[in-house]
This record gives sequence, C-alpha cells and structure tokens, in this order.
Amino acid sequence: MRLLLVEDDAMIGESLSEALTIENYAVDWVLDGRSAELALAHDVYDLLLLDLGLPKKQGLQVLSEYRLRGGMLPVLIITARDAMTDKVSGLDAGADDYLVKPFDLDELFARVRALLRRHTGRAQPVITFGQVMLDPASREVFLRGQLLSLSAREFALLLALLDPPGRVLSRAELEEKLYSWDHEIGSNAVEVYIHHLRKKLGTEFIRNVRGVGYKVAVA
Ligand code: CA
Repeated sequence: MRLLLVEDDAMIGESLSEALTIENYAVDWVLDGRSAELALAHDVYDLLLLDLGLPKKQGLQVLSEYRLRGGMLPVLIITARDAMTDKVSGLDAGADDYLVKPFDLDELFARVRALLRRHTGRAQPVITFGQVMLDPASREVFLRGQLLSLSAREFALLLALLDPPGRVLSRAELEEKLYSWDHEIGSNAVEVYIHHLRKKLGTEFIRNVRGVGYKVAVA
C-alpha cells in the first residue's frame, strides 16, 4: 500500500514517514500544499495523510479541490489544531477521519487500516481467500491455518493482490504499490516476489493474466 504524507513540520514528517515505512507502507512525503497536488495528480496512492496548516496552499483547500476533481482516496487529516471547527470543516471538505497531534502511532496505524478496509468495501479486519488468511494488523499470513514466513515486500505484494481479492493488477501497478520515490526498482523485482509467493502459497494461487498482470484465484 502506498501513502502520500503531506506534512510541513520536518521532524514530524520524518518520524511519521519512518514509522509508516517500518509498518510496511510505501510512503511519499511532501512538505507543502502545491507539491501535494502534483503528487495526487499521479494517482498511484491508496491513502492520503494530510496536515491542514501548510505552506503554499492550505490543506483544507487541497482537499476540497481534490474532491471536486473527483478524487476518491481515503483521507486522514492530521492536525495540530485542536479547534472543533477544524475537525468539522475537514470532515465536511471530504476527509474521512482525523487525528489531533500529538497522537499515538498505534492509533494512527489502526485508523489507516480501518480507512483502507472501508475503502475496499471490507468490514472484516482479516482477509480470507481460499485457504489463505491475511491479517493486515498483525501482518501475519496463514495457509490452511499454518503461519507462513513472508518478507516485508512479499507481504505487501500479497496484500495488494488480496485487497480486494481477484482484481487484476499490472506489474507497474504492483511496483507503484510497493515502492516510494526514493527506492530504486529492480527490473524484475515483482516477478521475483511473485515467484517466492507461489513457492509458499502454491503455484496456482497467483495467476498470470496474459498481457495484463496478476491476480489471485482459488482452484
Ligand atoms: Ca503544519
């Protein structure tokens, strides 16, 4: 899952992007409202974390214009302002949730998971597909009840294919979900992870869709 973080406070931005990266998200971090708009125009994100008080363009304005253009991403406002009006105008401008700084990282992670879940129309916190069960919160994957050992990238790739299951994702789409701007992508990285996942989950679990990409399937 790839997140866009918009935060002009360097210390907060750095610690958030570090913490989210450790949680296995690909994070792109920008420091002002205009850069946020440029990044959003590329449309590769799964969620937007948006500070409200921003240089160049205020967060609220970025958000309402993004929604006016038809932008669908789940948006979580992170704001230092505790004023009730900010929360209300944020939600009314199209945010899905908000957190007031300083906040607990575990709460941030849980809210992010909840928003991603709702966005894909899933109420259950755990994803089950065929014999495979994936828990986004604990980052555990089970095959027929047996815990599997997956690398961070393997997990991220499997989560992309499973949320929601059965959707076809191209190699480029999978790369975008796996890597932020500051990561070099090896030319066959996705194929290598798919290969590893097939070894662990069974070759038939991830299907090639000729000329299009990959999807999960049950036999
Ligand atoms: Ca700010």
